[in-house]
Amino acid sequence: MTRVVLVLVLLSSLSVSPAAEPPVLLKPDRVFDGTTTHAGWVVLVAGDKIAAAGPADKVEVPKDARVIALPGMTVLPGLIDAHSHLLLHPYNETPWDDQVLKEPLAERVCRATNHARANLLSGFTTLRDLGSEGAGYADVGIKSAIEKGIIPGPRLLVATKAIVATGSYAPRAFAPEWRVPQGADEADGANLRTVVREQIRGGADWIKVYADTPHGPGRGAKPAFSLDELKLIVETARDAGAPTVAHATTKEGMRRAALAVVETIEHGSDGDLEVFRLMAEKGVGFCPTLAADEATARYAGWTRDKPEPARLKGKREAMKAALEAKVTIVNGSDIGVFAHGDGARELELLVDFGLTPTAALRAATADAAKALHLEKKVGAVKAGLLADLIAVEGDPMTDVKALRAVKLVMKGGVLHKQP
Ligand SMILES: [Zn+2]
Repeated sequence: MTRVVLVLVLLSSLSVSPAAEPPVLLKPDRVFDGTTTHAGWVVLVAGDKIAAAGPADKVEVPKDARVIALPGMTVLPGLIDAHSHLLLHPYNETPWDDQVLKEPLAERVCRATNHARANLLSGFTTLRDLGSEGAGYADVGIKSAIEKGIIPGPRLLVATKAIVATGSYAPRAFAPEWRVPQGADEADGANLRTVVREQIRGGADWIKVYADTPHGPGRGAKPAFSLDELKLIVETARDAGAPTVAHATTKEGMRRAALAVVETIEHGSDGDLEVFRLMAEKGVGFCPTLAADEATARYAGWTRDKPEPARLKGKREAMKAALEAKVTIVNGSDIGVFAHGDGARELELLVDFGLTPTAALRAATADAAKALHLEKKVGAVKAGLLADLIAVEGDPMTDVKALRAVKLVMKGGVLHKQP
């Protein structure tokens, strides 16, 4: 008798596991599938995957399906931000130096759990987190906590500590006799192999290198690594199956990173047609991080009613050149410099800087998934892919601001937000 009861208890507890949830049918006005928009489509989700997507009269709906009507809304793939920092918060709250040097690691991780939730609920279901900025391997632990369902958050690809050339990073400008902890791993020459391998052992999905930084006499960014050093990083990481991403703002830093064939270049503020053409030729993607540039200008006192500062004007020129060179634009905002949960800002600025809303959305879905080697899992509304889906009020293809009105968020078939 007792055994029978036990079996019944086990069966009933099984019935509430996600795999046994009834299928879900999403019925919006339209679906953006990662490439193009379809009016009158529906999306059927079973378990953690998209079971079908297509015209309402062509999709066979199981009898037990739960229907979620989304009138006036658009369903899209969960958005991707290819440049985030969960372990940073806006610099107008606390300067970067103080975050790195004065905030206890546990405080930074607690903040990051809030950041992860805010980004997920604002529609971002995948982030490539590009450096813990002094918080060591904390990003690996946060990723693990999300995967185990301990905290809600986006899927993460993490870069751990990132790599900088000796003396090229920050916190900086201390008396030369002090050795101040840095926001990334310092390494040079042959030692780069060891540091790449250590970071991969620690859990790095991607290796991030700062190809240039402001350092040395005078102002402004300068190349930090030789081309041979960059190649050594890329080759060492590639052998272990880890792609490399480069921070580069100067033309020479970008040129060397492209010649070393990193997979994406971040920022690219001083890029011109020649260097963007080189990137296009080498298949190197571009994360413009416009929202970080804009936030930095705002923190320095700029407001929209004032003439655009030189840095933003320069960025407009760079974007024009990147589009002319047909570089793959990947949505990457540097979120953390500005508030987590405000990731739509980058897409608004991509449109402001010359992309169509559809192109901006591709940069945050199908194109980003491809750039991150995730196209077989996410970035499109297609049968067989993971059910990372969002619904927004209105049509973001006509007005990108619709991305502010996220009404539904589903990650791997689990609803985190619904109307
Ligand atoms: Zn960054």
